[in-house]
Amino acid sequence: MSCFHSISLDCPHCLKSEVGFTFVAAAPRKPGVKTDMPFQATYEAGAEFNTFWRCNVCGDGIVIIAKAKNKWTDSPSATKTFEDVFEKQQVYPKHYEPAVPKDTPLDIAELFIKGQEYLKTNDFEACALKLRRVIDLYVDKNKNKGEDVKAVINRLVADGEVAPCIAKWAFDIKYLESQTLHGFRDINPEEAQDFVTFTELFLTCIYTIPEMLKKRIKRPEQTSAEPGASRL
Ligand SMILES: [Zn+2]
Repeated sequence: MSCFHSISLDCPHCLKSEVGFTFVAAAPRKPGVKTDMPFQATYEAGAEFNTFWRCNVCGDGIVIIAKAKNKWTDSPSATKTFEDVFEKQQVYPKHYEPAVPKDTPLDIAELFIKGQEYLKTNDFEACALKLRRVIDLYVDKNKNKGEDVKAVINRLVADGEVAPCIAKWAFDIKYLESQTLHGFRDINPEEAQDFVTFTELFLTCIYTIPEMLKKRIKRPEQTSAEPGASRL
């Protein structure tokens, strides 16, 4: 296989950096145009193609939109690389960027990002462990003397800071993760995905929304400090 058919990129699926991808297929970007790029075709400079590649590590695919740098009339030469001949316009999916709800403290955000990365690499137990630590760390930061996890979460519900369904999820995560830890059962991909979704909701409830509300509440106070000046 010539080097024309391989390329190095960060894989958005297995998260390995600068991993080899192997060319699988290509089609012109213009609907209705038929060209067998990059084998026997001739095409003009600027012709655009959707090219499909497969990661040599995990086997998952990406699409690169590629634009021909020059007019092309030959078969691809073994001495030329794909990047000699084509300019990369876009790569899909884009490199994986985990989402963290706004205003999450850095130490908790790092655990949440790690949990999401373990989900991407199909290590569901490690994912659950990291997400459980998100809850443990939050509880450690917020517990009063003598409170355990249950007491802290129940207090949050009683104070109206966390909805009862969110608290139930927090207990579910801790329960399932401890089941795995003791070897009673495995966590399946759907459960791990649910845990990520839930943890995102949990962080949004306890960090993002209260901060948003604080900013909203501040505004009328500031304007009412100057009587008569609040309405323009
Ligand atoms: Zn990969």
